[in-house]
Amino acid sequence: MYSVRIYFFIIIIAFTGIHCRSGKSAAVTNNKHTAITVSSDFDSGSIDTLWESKPDFLTGWPRHWKQKSSSDNQYYWFYFKLEHTANKNITIKLDSLAGTYRGGPHLIYSKGTQPVYSYDQKNWQRISDVQYDARQHSLTFRNVFTADAVWIAYAHPFSYEQGLALIHSITGNPFLNIEVIGKTAQERDIHLLTITDPGVPDTEKKVVFITTLQHAGEYCGGYVVSALIHFLLSDEEGAALARKTTIYKIIPMMNPDGIFHGITRFNGNFEDLNQEWDDDFTDTLHLPVEPEAACVKKWIREWKSAGKTIDLGLDVHSQGQEGNMNLLHTPKDVLADLTPYLNKYWPIEYIPMEFSGSLNNCLVKEFNIPAGTFEIPQSRIKSGAYLTIEDYYQYGKGMASGITDYFLKSR
Ligand SMILES: [Zn+2]
Repeated sequence: MYSVRIYFFIIIIAFTGIHCRSGKSAAVTNNKHTAITVSSDFDSGSIDTLWESKPDFLTGWPRHWKQKSSSDNQYYWFYFKLEHTANKNITIKLDSLAGTYRGGPHLIYSKGTQPVYSYDQKNWQRISDVQYDARQHSLTFRNVFTADAVWIAYAHPFSYEQGLALIHSITGNPFLNIEVIGKTAQERDIHLLTITDPGVPDTEKKVVFITTLQHAGEYCGGYVVSALIHFLLSDEEGAALARKTTIYKIIPMMNPDGIFHGITRFNGNFEDLNQEWDDDFTDTLHLPVEPEAACVKKWIREWKSAGKTIDLGLDVHSQGQEGNMNLLHTPKDVLADLTPYLNKYWPIEYIPMEFSGSLNNCLVKEFNIPAGTFEIPQSRIKSGAYLTIEDYYQYGKGMASGITDYFLKSR
């Protein structure tokens, strides 16, 4: 039986010529069918195994990443390129879509999941012909592609290169200061942006600390915070008011190693960064402190020891394609009055919830800063509409406008 299986497997390989593992790919052609090639060895790319088991039908699974210091096994991000796709009706079936998060099941696909595809890695569209099998934890989707090369992802990617391009595009703006406050395990820079009007004394302003992209796979935060930054640096009236009344401190990419490698949730050391923020005051499970968290905490301590405050901290995340609401999570009674101001500009609900080791928890408990975590879907919202990059841009601008209103009201 065993040898028969191997023989059968060899025939399949010979017929399709495809077996992509760890980003490598190969292709052979026959007279009838040009084999589809698969690759993921690019910025933010990730797939474990994907191969053309019969013509125009690819099957495999996303890469599971085992966390170093706990049982977390996160898996859901995929982003790969197919070639030889023009005018083919291609079906992709992904299996093994069940992971572990903080010891419990992590099931982040649903019937509403719609992956995205692009012919240029900039303009993305949803794939709407999707079936999710909740019992088998498999997702099957199909689409007719018009070009000969296509990128397919779990949701809109925001690559490491896009993060660098954002920094490059705003460098030199008179309302902006850029610092590098630390480096990742793989020597990538952690940027801290300061946006404010230098013509108004800092003592008359509130201080807001915004962070995002702790978790690869939650790439929509990159678009939300990009839009917030571009708005704050713009000529718009609301932006001028925000700069006069507020100092924005922004880390636009907290986990560049994880983002670059497409490592669902983890950093370059295979740690879930958002479980690593309390290492040096209550929890000894995850020592040593991860470099991304350490440099931010060092900056906050220096900022506060200089007699300065932080009046609001917000960390932008995504619940992937699981949820259908924009949420603000905070420890109980923290920032309960913020969401009505945000809600004027983008739909958001307040749900008190606490996660040990999170940046949010650390800001509140260790530094006494009112802080919360945004959870933004990468799928459809309650109205049934599927979110686009333009929606994420509106959220970012709305976040800045709502924060200004919130502070003006409390003065
Ligand atoms: Zn997250």
